[in-house]
Amino acid sequence: MIPRAFEYHAPTSVAEAASLLDQHGDSAKLLAGGHSLLPLMKLRLAQPEVVIDLAKISDLSYIRQSNGGLSIGAMTTYADIESSADVQSLAPALAETAGMVADRQVRNMGTIGGSLAHSDPAGDLPAIILALGAQMVTSSSGAHRTIAADDFFVDLFTTALQPNEILNEIQIPALPSGTGTAYAKFGNKASHYAIVGIAAVLTASGGKCQSVRIGITGAGAKATRATSVENALTGASLDGATIKAAAQLASDGIDFNEDVHASAEYRAHLTRLYTERVLLEAASRAG
Ligand SMILES: Cc1cc2nc3c(=O)[nH]c(=O)nc-3n(C[C@H](O)[C@H](O)[C@H](O)COP(=O)(O)OP(=O)(O)OC[C@H]3O[C@@H](n4cnc5c(N)ncnc54)[C@H](O)[C@@H]3O)c2cc1C
Repeated sequence: MIPRAFEYHAPTSVAEAASLLDQHGDSAKLLAGGHSLLPLMKLRLAQPEVVIDLAKISDLSYIRQSNGGLSIGAMTTYADIESSADVQSLAPALAETAGMVADRQVRNMGTIGGSLAHSDPAGDLPAIILALGAQMVTSSSGAHRTIAADDFFVDLFTTALQPNEILNEIQIPALPSGTGTAYAKFGNKASHYAIVGIAAVLTASGGKCQSVRIGITGAGAKATRATSVENALTGASLDGATIKAAAQLASDGIDFNEDVHASAEYRAHLTRLYTERVLLEAASRAG
């Protein structure tokens, strides 16, 4: 349980961190809260020669209102997101999701950037980030890039980030009035990781669904949208029977994970059940 020896750097700016990444290439790893990377290093599943710690870059930790939405620095912790009045009012389910991650110790150290860059199939945040239609802003030496959440989660533990890119900021768009947001999960009783977690962002008017985005985590190799459910519900009446029927489509097209925690069949059942639950909650919150 002792990691291999590594060189440690603690840059104080994003530019310095990007230059270190350029210099050391694939042999380097960025360190955020360390709650995923350090266990992997101790198990020697990750053996970076160089660790670049982002903790001293104060410019990466903030929550700001921006054009009616939010800009959140990648090093912002779950605890800061959970307790932020701005997040609670502008993207309530994001605050709730952050509050459901693990325990207080993990929430005090784990970061939004680390969670998204890690793309753990059982991570909570990817589902709500997809449902909110967020944008990821990255930096590399001399360049910036914006990646839509829909394009960010590529595969198991794999994102669209290039090896020389740092995830800087997560941008959450303004939600139209009449929008309700919700996240619910069936979590592992010990770690709280999502066996299945579903997020919904739903805009309603006159009892009908104007638009809806649904993010699913825990079910397959990566977080994904439930587009069949979204298409079935858009323009439809938001009564219980219609929502229940649409939620039955949530398991379509997913190659379900199977492990000691749940069979593929059980995960498919949970996906449909929790989709119905979060849609009812989001619709009720949308008024
Ligand atoms: C006991 C325990 C229980 C947990 N339970 C849950 C749970 O219920 N739900 C859940 O979602 N998670 C859970 N986690 C995981 C936790 O949320 C981690 O904090 C998170 O997955 C990674 O965030 P981090 O800040 O610790 O990143 P790190 O572990 O430091 O980094 C993770 C990966 O992301 C990369 N990275 C980090 N920051 C950046 C960046 N800015 N740009 C580019 N790459 C970057 C690193 O190089 C590394 O590859 C649990 C962890 C533990 C230890």
